[in-house]
Amino acid sequence: MAVILDGKMLSAKFREGIKAETEILKHKTGKAPGIAVILAGDDPASNVYVTSKERTAIECGFHSVVERVSANVTTEDILKLVKKFNDDDKIHGILVQLPLPRNCDEKTILRAIKPEKDVDGFHPYNVGLLNIGEDCLMPCTPFGVMNMLADYGIELSGKNAVVIGRSNIVGKPIAAMLLKANATVTICHSKTKNLAEICSKADILVAAMGRPKFVTREFIKTGAVVIDVGINRLDGKLCGDVDYDGVKDMCSFITPVPGGVGPMTITTLMQNTLKAFKMIEKL
Ligand code: NAD
Repeated sequence: MAVILDGKMLSAKFREGIKAETEILKHKTGKAPGIAVILAGDDPASNVYVTSKERTAIECGFHSVVERVSANVTTEDILKLVKKFNDDDKIHGILVQLPLPRNCDEKTILRAIKPEKDVDGFHPYNVGLLNIGEDCLMPCTPFGVMNMLADYGIELSGKNAVVIGRSNIVGKPIAAMLLKANATVTICHSKTKNLAEICSKADILVAAMGRPKFVTREFIKTGAVVIDVGINRLDGKLCGDVDYDGVKDMCSFITPVPGGVGPMTITTLMQNTLKAFKMIEKL
């Protein structure tokens, strides 16, 4: 029977650690880690994420600022906000909530964030460092997955890892992180032939495709570790990219949806903010 990788429990444990360390650093320096989130438009899902980020930051003892601007905002307006937070000594992490309204130039905006405050790890400078295996701020969802694998003591060195999905926020960075952990990594995507056959050789299978319950028994090697990053809605209910009930008896470890990878993402954002604080304040 598979061990369920409990992201809810783990993120609560990590948050306690972040809170305790923040408390100590506040006493020592008189300063707190600060995070600024820019939310443009009124997308309901983005609003929920940002509110949750704000609540978690405050719970961790951080200084938290949220700038909510209308969907009619221009690239220039957002660049001004980014500059304001780049220059603000109380802010150590800046996050621009995606997706941005269509009229905004996402690339230009993300590149304007100072790399040392880029707590989403999307700036090409941090992407480059990740890909040459150097210490940097790393994207939250894949870094959260790595923390989860480490906490459960799952060995990666020499293992066959298959990642389904090649996005810049999940697929590519998790592949780079698994490679750094000495796994042998294959990246699959929408043009990959014989997907199920490739996946069925994986000791570690990461599904990040956004296709509800796509990964079925024929994709799974008996004893595999299965990480489901997908968040989909099917018949009004949340589900992952993996057919959880159909495959779980074949796996050694598996993440549920909800309650697996999802809760780790915001916690990892807090870890990144604390890391940026320590780097910037030279602690
Ligand atoms: P994306 O749409 O940017 O990328 C999806 C990737 O899957 C693409 O590279 C595509 O080639 C691949 N793909 C799509 N259909 C495929 C198929 N039939 N066969 C093989 N490959 C296929 O998505 P994303 O931003 O990487 O997100 C992926 C999923 O993860 C989504 O469900 C998203 O909601 C979820 N997500 C979850 C979190 C979290 O915190 N848990 C964070 C980010 C994304």
